[in-house]
Amino acid sequence: MKKRSPIKMSFLAALLIFVGFLPLFGILLFMDNKAMTTFFIILSIVMVSSGLILHFVYVRCPHCGSYLGRIMGSKCPFCGKNIEK
Ligand SMILES: [Zn+2]
Repeated sequence: MKKRSPIKMSFLAALLIFVGFLPLFGILLFMDNKAMTTFFIILSIVMVSSGLILHFVYVRCPHCGSYLGRIMGSKCPFCGKNIEK
């Protein structure tokens, strides 16, 4: 399996979660349309949850596999190795 940069994945996941909230604004435009409102809510839930899954699955140290949470700096707080490699 190819190793991914946890920093890149963290950024991607945050982007997906952020973009995932945008369809909720679409609801305001289609207040009277129940089908469209439901569609936007589902779209939003799917995008936000896939962002969260991406975050929990890939934002891990490539050396020890520890979950990094919100990455601070370029070293793993658990094993001290560089996480960018
Ligand atoms: Zn580590």
